[in-house]
Amino acid sequence: MRLHQAATAISRDHAGEVPRDLDALLALPGIGDYTARAIRTFAFGIPEPVVDTNVRRVVARAVAGQGEAGPPRMATDRDAVWSVLSPVTEELQVQGAKALMELGALVCTARKPLCEQCPVRDTCAWRAAGYPAYEGTTAPRQARFEGSDRQVRGIILRELRHSDIPVPETFLVTLWNDRLQYERALASLLEDGLAVREADGITLAS
Ligand code: SF4
Repeated sequence: MRLHQAATAISRDHAGEVPRDLDALLALPGIGDYTARAIRTFAFGIPEPVVDTNVRRVVARAVAGQGEAGPPRMATDRDAVWSVLSPVTEELQVQGAKALMELGALVCTARKPLCEQCPVRDTCAWRAAGYPAYEGTTAPRQARFEGSDRQVRGIILRELRHSDIPVPETFLVTLWNDRLQYERALASLLEDGLAVREADGITLAS
């Protein structure tokens, strides 16, 4: 839904071209700080600190010498990543933003970092310190997906996506064995504008 809204806004307000300007990107529906900076960096080659969970972990370990990054703090995290990228040329900053993501996803993983294969192993502060245990605060863990309202919403949406006609509520209710949770999930989809109730059933919002 947000993607459709963003495409509509790009077509209407930007002559069909994805804007390069950070504020213009942030004004698009569904585009937050991470996505806006990722678009500028990876689509337009304009270097930005692109901060995701993996990047935060690499910088926390290699630069700050901490095993974990702790709870996200947007401005502080951006500054930390930019302090790594800013000393090099713009071209290398773009490559560096990609490299940090790859490093965090494939080498400096949360549970088993592959330090012997790591290109920054000789300068990694956490490795040099002997991998001390992290003692700072940790980010709150996301609630389990299994059995959550999110799972029920996903099940309902999947059914709606696969049907060209409204799906009867008498059928939808059979998809989940907790009636109250099903009703809560369906109500939230209707309220969020992702689904629509019609005379003969529920459909995806157009
Ligand atoms: S040396 Fe190990 S801990 Fe340090 S950045 Fe590389 S993979 Fe991560």
